[in-house]
Amino acid sequence: MEATGWMEQAENHILHTYNRYPIVLDYGDGVYLYDTNGKKYLDFAAGIAVQALGYGNQAYNQALKSQIDKLMHTSNLYYNQPIIEAAEKLCTVSGMDIVFFTNSGTEAIEGAIKAAKKYAYSKDGKTDHEIIAMNHSFHGRSLGALSVTGNTHYREPFEPLPGIVKFAEYNDLESVKALVNKKTCAIIMETVQGEGGIYPATEEFLSGVKQICEDNDILLILDEIQCGMGRTGYMFAWQKYHIKPDIMTCAKALGGGVPVGAFVMTKKVADTSLKPGDHGTTYGGNPFVGAAVSKVLDIFTEQEIIQHVQEISVYLEEQLENLKEEYKFVIDRRGIGLIQGLELNIPVGEVSHKALEEGLIVITAGSNVLRFVPPLIIEKEHVDEMIKKLKKVFDNKVGKSVSNL
Ligand SMILES: *Cc1c(COP(=O)(O)O)cnc(C)c1O
Repeated sequence: MEATGWMEQAENHILHTYNRYPIVLDYGDGVYLYDTNGKKYLDFAAGIAVQALGYGNQAYNQALKSQIDKLMHTSNLYYNQPIIEAAEKLCTVSGMDIVFFTNSGTEAIEGAIKAAKKYAYSKDGKTDHEIIAMNHSFHGRSLGALSVTGNTHYREPFEPLPGIVKFAEYNDLESVKALVNKKTCAIIMETVQGEGGIYPATEEFLSGVKQICEDNDILLILDEIQCGMGRTGYMFAWQKYHIKPDIMTCAKALGGGVPVGAFVMTKKVADTSLKPGDHGTTYGGNPFVGAAVSKVLDIFTEQEIIQHVQEISVYLEEQLENLKEEYKFVIDRRGIGLIQGLELNIPVGEVSHKALEEGLIVITAGSNVLRFVPPLIIEKEHVDEMIKKLKKVFDNKVGKSVSNL
């Protein structure tokens, strides 16, 4: 069937909650994707920061294939080896203590919120605790995750949302302080805001928030779903800041493409929060995803992914800075490592569509940011190729009409 036929069928049968780009992706190889017409795309989106190892990593694929032949699923009523190994490795790389595996990032957020509420409830037996979240944050689409997502457009039709949540301004410590009271049980934020437009936390802000949490026995929940797993050049972005959260959430790149998330906590939180009967999942942490997470973490060590990100991201940053110098409509570059954003003064949606025509996949964040979250295995030549394609878009397609902005 022609690509247009597939697209028409999709719109007939799949709920229209996404305005999709008009291509049907077929297979991937390394850092490239191919559509059903055989057209090749350089992938600087990685399935929204999921495909950290790119496509077709043989060690990863083999590990999954053998686990499929052995055992896919058992339920959480029994132990299974792959997920135990995965949990142990995740604790080693994070320095955290206890893991709960989920099927998505959103569910990791749900679990983190429940853990924080139970922690506070265990202390005083009350049920009126408050959470402080950030404006322009994104934590997911379920009712609980939406309750801490600082985007009115996403929230409004679904209100009232559960719990008492107050919103502070990201990177504004005073705005957080103003909301803290005796009922505050948790402060939740992304270490680097992703969907909201690629805003890294400042050192001062994050250490200030950590201090507030310590002084008041408030739990710090850091959402590392997008910025975690090596993307910033640190296994988890908070490791750059010399602080440690009480709970962190993880997903996207965690399974290398297999749907899996986790909320990971310190022993202190685990001991005083969720107990048997308080939380559960049928699929969560089954042997199949266990094998995936375990192998991803092995490959990170064996292929020195973190060191590679630290090196290659210097080059990417330089090249993006050059674009900022060269084009007046590029008004800012932000990011750490391989989570980068270019704030543009021209319609970013149009740029990402035109980029597709040039064989480049880039996505947007917020209303005016072009987001770069490529596979972590990109090399200099891929950065060069991306820049070349993007310049062509800037010059020929949108650049001309707006160059005098
Ligand atoms: C993607 C994302 C989520 C939601 O994860 P899903 O797997 O889509 O449920 C939550 N927080 C952040 C920071 C994200 O980027």
